[in-house]
Amino acid sequence: MEANVLIVEDEAKLVEILERTLSESFHVSVITTFEELAAQIDGSSIRFDLLVLDRMLHGKDSLNLIAPLKEKFPQVKVLVLSAINTPSEKAIALDLGADDYLSKPFAHEELLARLRVLAKRLPAELRFGNITLDMLERTAKVAEVDLQLATKEFLLLRAFLKTPGKVFPKTTLYEEVWQTSADVESNAIETTVNKLRRKLEEAGASASIKNSRNLGYWIEE
Ligand code: CA
Repeated sequence: MEANVLIVEDEAKLVEILERTLSESFHVSVITTFEELAAQIDGSSIRFDLLVLDRMLHGKDSLNLIAPLKEKFPQVKVLVLSAINTPSEKAIALDLGADDYLSKPFAHEELLARLRVLAKRLPAELRFGNITLDMLERTAKVAEVDLQLATKEFLLLRAFLKTPGKVFPKTTLYEEVWQTSADVESNAIETTVNKLRRKLEEAGASASIKNSRNLGYWIEE
């Protein structure tokens, strides 16, 4: 399964290189400021598995965001990139919850290899109620019953199960599942949700997908 990587880096040139390098192996998105990452953590709108985190973002130390991120989203793996490469600074980052620390300048091969290692440590299963998703095999079960899901149905269920109870606006689901910006005229979400909902119901799932016209969609027991 292709992991979602978020790059947080304020140097435009490095962003470009990172995006190009990592896109070969991962689904990549980018933000460039401390504030944007803080807002994503506060808003619980985390949509990535791996974080490539530049340490100094326009003068702000992004290490301060690792603890709140890990508290809310313990499954996310964090690799810190930094020109500050003394052992004591690396130790501080690791103590704060970083999973890896790579000094700048770095070789792309090494960054890719380290991210692959972190990707292997991502949870292989997501569970909620009697629903289980196997993230590697891309299969889903309700109790012991296999669900036959189309790709978009699987991705949608995965999005919901990563943060049960969280309301996903349609725009977020378009970005996460269709990987495109919102097309408000399209009824692709309604169609896919309805199919997924029916499959969950028929299999006796203990959780179901709810929606509110104005807010969006979520899963709850
Ligand atoms: Ca920087």
